[in-house]
Amino acid sequence: MTGGVVRCGHCGTANRVPAAAAGTPRCGKCHQPLPWMADADDSTFAEVAEAARLPVVVDLWAPWCGPCRTVSPALEQLARDLAGKIKLVKVNVDTSPQISQRFAVQAIPTLLVLRHGQVTARQTGAVPLSTLRTWVDQALNNPGLALFRGAGRRPSIK
Ligand SMILES: [Zn+2]
Repeated sequence: MTGGVVRCGHCGTANRVPAAAAGTPRCGKCHQPLPWMADADDSTFAEVAEAARLPVVVDLWAPWCGPCRTVSPALEQLARDLAGKIKLVKVNVDTSPQISQRFAVQAIPTLLVLRHGQVTARQTGAVPLSTLRTWVDQALNNPGLALFRGAGRRPSIK
């Protein structure tokens, strides 16, 4: 399981962020939420992605995939912009056959939004940052709706 060192967007302090944690990682110096990005595979996905309290954006990718390399920086930007609101989890499908089978991944990159392990939005193929941002915003604000993009009516929520 790999976490990593990220720089706080507010004060610039480098913080070590674990791949899995009970809460939301915050800067040790200024206590602002930190961007959260982690890698997961078949053996760590439950702990890193499904157990997360925050909505998780899952990037199913592979090292040989050109479009994946274009979407990765956009996702990392989004994770920085939405620090404390989402967690980005990257899964290399080549080394995670169980996860790719479970989510029926046919093409990569495949992007998912998970809430408590449930898929609330899904997107296949590389898209620009602005489209990603709209997609994630929609999934965060209206869980369940992003699956049904294109439907004419919004479900009424009482
Ligand atoms: Zn800070």
